[in-house]
Amino acid sequence: MEEFYITPTHIKDYLFCPTLFYNKYVKGIIEPKTELMLEGTSEYMRDKGRWMERKTLLRDRRLKVDRMVFAKPLTSKKYRIHGVADTIFWINRKMNVLEIKYGGSPKLFKDHLYQTAAYALMAEEEFKQPAYKLIIFYKKERKWFERRFTAQLRSHLIKIIGEIWKVLEGGVIPEFRPKRMCGSCWYRRFCYPP
Ligand code: SF4
Repeated sequence: MEEFYITPTHIKDYLFCPTLFYNKYVKGIIEPKTELMLEGTSEYMRDKGRWMERKTLLRDRRLKVDRMVFAKPLTSKKYRIHGVADTIFWINRKMNVLEIKYGGSPKLFKDHLYQTAAYALMAEEEFKQPAYKLIIFYKKERKWFERRFTAQLRSHLIKIIGEIWKVLEGGVIPEFRPKRMCGSCWYRRFCYPP
């Protein structure tokens, strides 16, 4: 039987809201794409091949990069995750993971941090070395956030991956917890029936 892998998007969605995750991936209820989402997708498609742009971005940050890989497919057999990392680069042999986000944000969102951490976890398995920094770049506002891939962040990520597998395979239904963003959530109709 073919083995099923999750992606960093599963991690992002689970952190955004476990109930949304359950509706989307267990019940298979998919939100129709809004204009804003379509805009983000087409921006991503246009950007996909822009290797030089990544080089320029890193140079503008005055980073002396020894090596860089772009659009790298990664897999962790250990945690059963698969995905394509935007950019991985090395400075003084230390491995850093860069994720580009097409929206704008004045602060770093937790779900984006852990999504990037998932690429780092896979990169560690692929390149057999520890990941040093996670970098998230919000393209619209040109905001750059850096975090060390600490043991604490790694173990929390592994815990989240375990919870995700329990929902997907263990029949666990996440507890419903109302949130600030419920008001603008498309899945609201399933959480708050009229
Ligand atoms: S309405 Fe709130 S609880 Fe329900 S899926 Fe959306 S964010 Fe999650």
